[in-house]
Amino acid sequence: MKIHVNREKCQGHNRCYALAPELIDVDDLGSAFEIGDGQVPAELEDKAQLVADNCPEYAIELSD
Ligand code: SF4
Repeated sequence: MKIHVNREKCQGHNRCYALAPELIDVDDLGSAFEIGDGQVPAELEDKAQLVADNCPEYAIELSD
């Protein structure tokens, strides 16, 4: 699984970063972005889904 933040949709609530700092970081303006190439370790896949479900802007995309 890969995680990707669509930065055009992100409004910087930082909810994702609070939930999963292992997967998401935020820049100086508060916009979120995926760490590294966005590859999600198997043990964090449930957390990645939780983060995607909790983004109010639907800015977090998951792919296989
Ligand atoms: S929860 Fe969504 S809108 Fe908020 S910072 Fe994360 S990606 Fe951006």
